[in-house]
Amino acid sequence: MFSTESELLLEKDYSLVEYPIMEHFLTIQGEGVHTGKTAYFIRTAGCDVQCWWCDVKDSWDGDKHPKMSVKHLTRAAVESGAPFVVITGGEPLLHDLHPLTQNLHKHGLKIHIETSGSSSLSGQLDWITLSPKRFKKPLHEIFPYVDELKVVVLTKKDLAWAEENAAKCPPDTKLLLQPEWDTPASVQLIVDYVKEHPQWGISLQTHKFLGVR
Ligand code: SF4
Repeated sequence: MFSTESELLLEKDYSLVEYPIMEHFLTIQGEGVHTGKTAYFIRTAGCDVQCWWCDVKDSWDGDKHPKMSVKHLTRAAVESGAPFVVITGGEPLLHDLHPLTQNLHKHGLKIHIETSGSSSLSGQLDWITLSPKRFKKPLHEIFPYVDELKVVVLTKKDLAWAEENAAKCPPDTKLLLQPEWDTPASVQLIVDYVKEHPQWGISLQTHKFLGVR
C-alpha cells in the first residue's frame, strides 16, 4: 500500500473538497489482475499525456466536466456495495488524491488506481496499476509501489518499452501486456512474446468484448 498521509492529515475532514469528474459508476473491472471483480469506477477529468490511441479523449479537458465533492463520490461508492474503488482517468494523479482516498478508506473501501505515473503520487492507495506511456514517461518515484504493470502493445517498440519499465518495478509486480481493443494485429505479437517470456501475462479489455459498461 502507498500512503503519504501524516497522522495529522488523517484527522482532517475533506468531505467538501471537489474534483472534476467525467463519470462514476458501478461496473466489473474489465482489465488486469482484478478482471471480473465488481468495482466502483471514478473517472477523474483532465489528462496531459494525450496518447493518440486513447479511447477516453473526452476526459482530457478537465474544465469540460462537473466538479463533484468527496462526500458525494464516497456516498455513491458506498451505496453501490462494491468492495473497492478504481480511480482512473484521464490521469488521476493530476489531482491531489489525499482528500478522496482518505474519505473512501474511512468508509471501508479499498482503493485501486490506474495511472500513467507521469505526475506525483498522492493519497492512500491499496493497489497501483502503472500503465506507462512513452509520450509522457512515469516519474521514478512510482516504481517501488507498483503492484501491476500493464503495457499497451501496438508494435515491437512497445515490448522494449514494457521491459524497460519492468526492470524498475519490484520483483513481485504482476507483468501484463495488453493489445489495443481495435488493433488485433498486436495480439499475435503479444502471444508470441509471452510464450517466450513467461514472466509476462496477457490482459484483455474484457468489458469491451462483453459490452459491459
Ligand atoms: S494516459 Fe490514459 S487518458 Fe490520458 S491520453 Fe493516455 S490513454 Fe488517454
